[in-house]
Amino acid sequence: MISRRTAATAVLVAATAVSGTVLGAGTASASTTDLPLPVSGAEYRVSSKAGGALQWDSRTTGSNVVIRDWNEASAQQLWTIKDEGAGTWSVKVPGTNNAIDRDTGRNTVGSWNYVGADNQRWSLHNTTLGDGRGWLLRNVSDPSLCLTRGADLNAKVAACNAGDPAQNWNLDRSTGTTPPTPGRPVIDLDYSQAPDLGPWLERQKQTLADYYPTISNLVTKGAWTAAPRFRIVLDPQITDHPAEARPGAVPEIHAGVSYTRGNQNDTGFLLHEAAHVAFFGHPDDRPWWLEEGLADWVRYYNFQPGTVHPLAPGDRYDSGYSATARFIDHVAKTYRRPDLPYLLNTRNYGSGQIWVQLTGKTADQLWNEMPK
Ligand SMILES: [Zn+2]
Repeated sequence: MISRRTAATAVLVAATAVSGTVLGAGTASASTTDLPLPVSGAEYRVSSKAGGALQWDSRTTGSNVVIRDWNEASAQQLWTIKDEGAGTWSVKVPGTNNAIDRDTGRNTVGSWNYVGADNQRWSLHNTTLGDGRGWLLRNVSDPSLCLTRGADLNAKVAACNAGDPAQNWNLDRSTGTTPPTPGRPVIDLDYSQAPDLGPWLERQKQTLADYYPTISNLVTKGAWTAAPRFRIVLDPQITDHPAEARPGAVPEIHAGVSYTRGNQNDTGFLLHEAAHVAFFGHPDDRPWWLEEGLADWVRYYNFQPGTVHPLAPGDRYDSGYSATARFIDHVAKTYRRPDLPYLLNTRNYGSGQIWVQLTGKTADQLWNEMPK
């Protein structure tokens, strides 16, 4: 749901500029890179193009290496990158001799006492993905394996693929102050009215922040900048619907406490609201059902595919929510217009001429021919 009461007052916040490259000239010789290599011995934050930053668990040898929300205040997200000669590098926990180390049996990684072994060194390869600031880290013991952000948010190695955001890492000198993943938002939380749900909300925040740039890539594509910061409030006054999104200088998602408490396996309802936040700034002329249908299209056909609700008796293309999401998906696929959700999201809707322009048929005709 979007709060209609406040929709007219939508104000977009200017995007925070992402910090520029601050890497200095390196000393190692062997690497075919466009970016300067790291400064040997300096501290870096190592963040994933797929979201989050590389983090060490403890200063003890054998500790885990995980991916967590970018947090510039966290010392556990600092790493010392050191030139180990012959184009190879170690990535160490600052102030220790422990380095990121491939377990050659299981292809997990951990932070272990550094002895200069091949499985403790990496070669750096600049990639062209996205803004071109990413690096692949190939393990010297098997250069076909690269450091990877696991889906379970543990670091590991996997077969190298320069096009995989989960293997593209940004190296930012620790003086950097803004999140380096383009479009990744800052999300503030307020669970003061339901503190028991705090740990749950912290986990949802990570997922939403990871996915938010994808929402923009699906349906906005730079037509305007999605709000770079928003807030999620657990609100006991929201009782007759799961949640709503409210525009503002810092947009807010208000999630009902009772719904949240009873549906802790549901991230999709918050993702729907995050889609509204990314939509704020669209042309004014758009009916409510299209707004809700687009938010549910993001949710059910992209974030959690295969889970869309069945149609209910009396549903129409303009019923909103999952019925409209089904309709959008059907037309986009049947008429081979994968850009349809983007066009619906970025143009004035008017009286619906867009359907005729793209397909030669009215929305009513398209709805009637859709398999139910
Ligand atoms: Zn909605």
